[in-house]
Order: sequence, then C-alpha cells, then structure tokens
Amino acid sequence: MVTHLTRRTLLTATALAAGAAAWPRAGFAAAPLANAQGPGAYRYRLGAFELTAIYDGTWFLPIDGTFVTNASGPEVNEALASAFLPPDIMPISITALLVNTGSKLVLIDTGSAGQITDTAGFLNANLGAAGVKAADIDTILISHCHADHINGLKTKDGAQVFPNAQVFVPEPEWTFWMDDGNQSRATGSVLGYFRNARRIFGDIGKEVQRFMPGEEVVPGIVSLPAYGHTPGHTAFAVQSGNQSLLVMSDTVRNPELFARNPDWQPIFDMDGALAVKTRRTMLDRAVADRMLVAAYHFPFPACGHMVKRGTGYDLVPSMWRPL
Ligand SMILES: [Zn+2]
Repeated sequence: MVTHLTRRTLLTATALAAGAAAWPRAGFAAAPLANAQGPGAYRYRLGAFELTAIYDGTWFLPIDGTFVTNASGPEVNEALASAFLPPDIMPISITALLVNTGSKLVLIDTGSAGQITDTAGFLNANLGAAGVKAADIDTILISHCHADHINGLKTKDGAQVFPNAQVFVPEPEWTFWMDDGNQSRATGSVLGYFRNARRIFGDIGKEVQRFMPGEEVVPGIVSLPAYGHTPGHTAFAVQSGNQSLLVMSDTVRNPELFARNPDWQPIFDMDGALAVKTRRTMLDRAVADRMLVAAYHFPFPACGHMVKRGTGYDLVPSMWRPL
C-alpha cells in the first residue's frame, strides 16, 4: 500500500514537472474576460476645492457629409482618421464635473441617464465608485438644455435622481426652451429637444432657480455667457485661491475635430457663426492665461490645457496622478 502511494505521488510529481515545462501550464485556468470598463472617476485639486470628473459614457453618433455645414464629409473623416478614429462615426464622450467647494457639493450637468444610447448612462454608478451618493449633491448647475446634459436629473420612469439638489438653469436657456412659440416653429431633432426639456422640467419647473450668465452662482463658481451652441449655452469659471478652471461645457466638444478646426460649424450648433466666435474667444483665453480647462465632451478625464497650433488648437490632456 505504501509502495503504491509512493508510486502514485511520484507519477503526479512527474506530471507536474512536465506540465511546468509546457505552456499553458496544467492546473492554471485562464482569467475570465471582464467585459466591462472599470470605474470612471478622476479626482483633482483646484486650490482648496476638490474636483471629480465623472464619466457617463460615450455616444457613438453615426454622421454623414452634412454633419459639419462648412466642411465636406471626406474632410471630417480625415480629421477623424488623424485622431485614429473610424470614419462616419462621431464619438461623443460624456463627462460631468463634481465640485466640492468645502461648503457645497456641486454637479455641473447630469449625463444622459441611459436615455440616449446604451453606451452612456453610467454617471450614477461612477458617482458611487467615487464614494458619492446622489442624495449628497446639494447643487446642480445646468450649462444648457440638450438631452445629454439634463436627462440625468430623472430616471426613465420620471423619478428625481438628486432629491436634495437645488437645480440652476441659465435664464436665456430656460426662456428659449420653455417658449411655446419657439416650440411650435421647431422641427426634427430640435423639436425633440423641446419635448425632452419639458419632460425633465415639467413638474419641477417651480423649484428650478434661474440665473443670468455672468453671475456667480455658487461661491467660487462664476457663470459665463457662451452663446451659439444653444441660445443660452453657458460656461463656468471655477476659482479657489489663485487657481482657476474654465469649464467650457459644449463650446468645443471633440478636440480632434473642433479645437483643431475651430471654424467648423456642426449641425448641432444652433447659431453656427456665433458658436465659432465663442469657441475662438474661449480657446484664446485658455491659451493666453494657461488655464486648466474641462469640457463635457473631451476624452475622459476631460481636463487639461489648450495650446495653439497652426490655425487651430490642441488639447494637452491632464495626466492621471495621485491626489
Ligand atoms: Zn452636449
């Protein structure tokens, strides 16, 4: 019996030794694929403030030759190719910004709530991953009333996502989208934006605070008129101590397309010429003042610095680092 066991032990040991020499090694399972992205939250400091970029997802919008009104389809595809992106698809990355001023927890824009595409709608999960509960947020600043910025205020069933937050909307933005005459003249996707704004704000309209762009909305956060993308489109300057951050909202979007080619007018800029003027003014200010910038549709973590190159601008993204 003892001999038998010894022989079997020997045989096993020999098999293991043989296995160790081969590849893959016997007895080691392959690691399963995760098939999901990791948490999308990136924290950085601005003076005494703590900021967290919260990733909502990416909307892969099919586009054609009409997407940029003053550039051809091949020109747009060439810009995509130079950024190593496939043709005829505009990747619209969505990243909201959480600002903890020490006395206020402020969320700037709210994501898409999974109501635009299956590949976006992760804002709440990523807030959770960053250790923040939706109920802890006391202030929400809306840059403008497009669906990818306001839909996160409500679930698909109409429940409020941020029960304790005071919501602030720019006055000219509110006035435009809530005007029945404007809605009656709208068609296509713009009509969809009107209906969606009313779906989101219909029953909470009385509680929504309106502000004039230019006002300091929260101590340390000044709103800036950035009209053109929409009639009341608003950017924000966040300031703490001697540090400041320019939150450009939708002034630029994909840097590979619209910082590189700031004069391009995509169909979703409602006043294309004014949007170009705003874009150039804001990018020039960011370059001249060497300001840290954040932008809702920049690649995650959607912050960095802008530099001038040729007739356009490049984003130098912030480097992931410990706080
Ligand atoms: Zn947007």
